[in-house]
Amino acid sequence: MRVEILGAPVDRLTLGQAVDRVAELVSAGRPGRVITLNPEYLYRAVTEDKTLMKLVNRADLVTADGEGIVWAGRVAGTPFPERVTGIDLMLASVQRAAQEGWPVFLLGAAPGVAEEAAENLRRQHPGLQVAGTYHGYFKQEEEAAVAERIRDAAPRLLFAALGAPKQERWIDQYIESIGPVVAMGVGGSLDVLAGRVTRAPRWMQQLRIEWLGRLVMEPSRWRRILVLPRFAWLVQRNYRFGRGNR
Ligand code: UDP
Repeated sequence: MRVEILGAPVDRLTLGQAVDRVAELVSAGRPGRVITLNPEYLYRAVTEDKTLMKLVNRADLVTADGEGIVWAGRVAGTPFPERVTGIDLMLASVQRAAQEGWPVFLLGAAPGVAEEAAENLRRQHPGLQVAGTYHGYFKQEEEAAVAERIRDAAPRLLFAALGAPKQERWIDQYIESIGPVVAMGVGGSLDVLAGRVTRAPRWMQQLRIEWLGRLVMEPSRWRRILVLPRFAWLVQRNYRFGRGNR
């Protein structure tokens, strides 16, 4: 079932159900867009950039990434069964891809990172077909050529790790020209899969303070954290104080 959080459609699914949805989209053989929605993206979509909201509306699957979205679901009276992050959805989708024989393409991060991530994924899933990899630091005039390269590799699943919202914009602009591929924005996941960045420990994830762990490991993220109280205020204002003022 889909609910609306601050005007954005978000699917109320467990991780397992979200992977089933990804699989359905791949089987449909059409271009499919997947967004793992976090509070930073949604705050921007509501307050400054309506085109970001359009991208969410066009997506075939939108998951509640980030504790902030899960919390907003509770405040709105439409709780999510769990958080479905980009990296978790990617890992579960890769496992399904290996079973089904769907080739995957890894796009993004610094040169070399996607290859290392692919190597590690192949080790974990020996049957996995990696149709190709490409780094995420290409110039704007190279964008179409990158899309062509992906089209020629003919993946069924494309993981785009260019950071949000760049990856969502890129996917929206090029997916039709790439063809029948399901594309998912996965942020910093390739850095984690390549072993360049470590994910916050499990106990932190369970205590719902993974964001704090990320902040400790990557202090440059502090600026992004600042948006969270503003996002919380927006949610409170809309759902608790009932002003409906977005
Ligand atoms: N990145 C990229 N091209 C760019 C900017 C960023 O490939 O032009 C990569 C960057 O190297 C990193 C990822 O995008 O691997 C963004 O990671 P971040 O943790 O900031 O993403 P988030 O999950 O927070 O959206």
